[in-house]
Amino acid sequence: MQSKEEFYIYYGVISFLSIEYLWELYLAIRQHRVYEEATELPTDLEDIMTPETYKKARVYNRDQSSFRIMKDLFAFIVTCLVIYVDGFVIFWKAGGQLAASLGSTGHSETLQTIGFALLMNLFNTLINMPFSVYHTFVVEERHGFNKQTAGFFIKDKIKEFLVGQAIMLPLFAAIIWIVRIGGTYFFIYLWVFAMMFSLFLLTIYPNYIMPLFDRYTPLSPGSLRTRIEELAASVKFPLYKLYVVEGSKRSNHSNAFFYGFFKNKRIVLFDTLLKDYKSESEKDTSKTEKNEEKENEKKESEKVGCDDDEVLAVLGHELGHWKLNHVIKTLVCMQVNLFLVFLVFGLLFQFKPMYAAFGFRNEQPVIIGLLIVLQFIFSPYHAILNFSMTILSRHHEFQADKFARDLGKAKYLRSALIKLSRDNLSFPVYDWLYSRWHYSHPPLLERLAALDKTD
Ligand SMILES: [Zn+2]
Repeated sequence: MQSKEEFYIYYGVISFLSIEYLWELYLAIRQHRVYEEATELPTDLEDIMTPETYKKARVYNRDQSSFRIMKDLFAFIVTCLVIYVDGFVIFWKAGGQLAASLGSTGHSETLQTIGFALLMNLFNTLINMPFSVYHTFVVEERHGFNKQTAGFFIKDKIKEFLVGQAIMLPLFAAIIWIVRIGGTYFFIYLWVFAMMFSLFLLTIYPNYIMPLFDRYTPLSPGSLRTRIEELAASVKFPLYKLYVVEGSKRSNHSNAFFYGFFKNKRIVLFDTLLKDYKSESEKDTSKTEKNEEKENEKKESEKVGCDDDEVLAVLGHELGHWKLNHVIKTLVCMQVNLFLVFLVFGLLFQFKPMYAAFGFRNEQPVIIGLLIVLQFIFSPYHAILNFSMTILSRHHEFQADKFARDLGKAKYLRSALIKLSRDNLSFPVYDWLYSRWHYSHPPLLERLAALDKTD
């Protein structure tokens, strides 16, 4: 350590990382104990789930919880090690060598940054891979959620990595350019640029990026489609297209969402949300007798998904998010936050002790400064921000439920929530502190109680 400031930054960062880790661990252990100890189905849940589903959900969530605790411990150790051995310096130098070996002559901060980011991302992807494999093929598999083959998984990960780099690397190059030529108020330009970039991503993401990973098929004409169109029209939702995504290739967790700007809204339903949905390929093969027999063998009670009335109730909830401007409100919060981040970065980015604390004593690369501010300096603030956003999100969920209730869909939303919770093996018992900190959706019983209210 060469200066007092450097010393304070270094130990400040390490202390906060440790406090945050211990806090999360404490919460995780509290919640884990619930999974271990709440073995009997509580009486107020008897109408909602069977003892078998309850047990399945408990074991599934217990496994998930053990997995997360191990993964978080690993991530914490890696982060500490990276700081301890001046890992950013190592990757920065290696990034420079990579750029040079690819023919970059002289020193270019942009090319070195691209090399650095590429190596960092590769490193992160590789060290997380064993966890990802274990999660998909052991944890999810054991509980019947995994639908991926090894081939699909590998292809998916490679695609994910390439798409990530294709977005991130030009973004970094642009950021460096803006910081270097922007003058005193560069952070304002940076913010405007980031805003435009995120709107651009929101525009291209659903149409060009999501289809790279999953198949989106328009919902075929029929009574469900007609009823959805009527529902959308009744609340003046500008429904442009209606898709079903074959999420069941990936996993069995079911959902629905909408996206798009202005008059071009699309609604996407997961095939797992729809009880009787069959993909085109399944329709073809089910013509053979053997498959039909298999279908008939499947008992009604074993089927996952919701019937049409329930799907419409779920959409009533989603339309509530739209009508009440929840997406825009969240987006505005994010942009205000981003401005704050860039402002602080603008104030700190020439502050040499901040770089020195991470081993950079002779140079102050833009990307390193941004990384330190975003990942470390801001982490106490981010913890509070996340907590506030979780509160806001829970509030929005209640509002959207109420919207669906006002559409007269309380009864079906009620049964849909119960079914979705069953299909996803959500566990209805929780530690209050853990739930307050982590759950962006209110627990099932609270939502049902709010739906049952009449006012
Ligand atoms: Zn919602």
